[in-house]
Amino acid sequence: MKIPVEQITQSPKEVKFSERIEKLNSLFAKEKYRDFQFPPMLDGTLVYYRSGQELFFHGAFGGKFEGYCSRCLTDYSFKVEKEFDLVLVPSPSRSERRIEELKREELGLSYYSTDMIELAPLIEEQVLLALPTRPLCREDCQGLCGGCGANLNNEECACNPIAASDSRMAIFRTLKVNR
Ligand SMILES: [Zn+2]
Ligand SMILES: [Zn+2]
Repeated sequence: MKIPVEQITQSPKEVKFSERIEKLNSLFAKEKYRDFQFPPMLDGTLVYYRSGQELFFHGAFGGKFEGYCSRCLTDYSFKVEKEFDLVLVPSPSRSERRIEELKREELGLSYYSTDMIELAPLIEEQVLLALPTRPLCREDCQGLCGGCGANLNNEECACNPIAASDSRMAIFRTLKVNR
């Protein structure tokens, strides 16, 4: 969706949006394996208004994404619900830029430089922010046995008991290092 800046007024407007977020899949496809996979479209609502030159957005979206668990290497799906607030300020001219950049860091502002606000990149950014740092099918996922490869969430380890406890310790140590 594109919103012409001139149509953003002081009185808030609410719209429903449906944005294509497929591009995020190609972002993650560059990695060795995909941590996350996204549906083609994401639905949400957006309220927008202005105060002077500053544009304010309050949005919410929800969707079902796929994850690839970093411990047991299994696909799982999870729901994301997120609300976000954004302020866009006009891109400063070159002379103002240094001061503006400092201000931007403090306030977490973003710029707009065209007379059309494109929603897709803003939504994509919010989706990335909503993702967990590591994909885990569940908080207490037991992972795979380093010895026999059994998924310890739902299988008995096939290694002998001593080797099994050793390899479990090995997984534990690796997890700690990777954190
Ligand atoms: Zn898992
Ligand atoms: Zn085992």
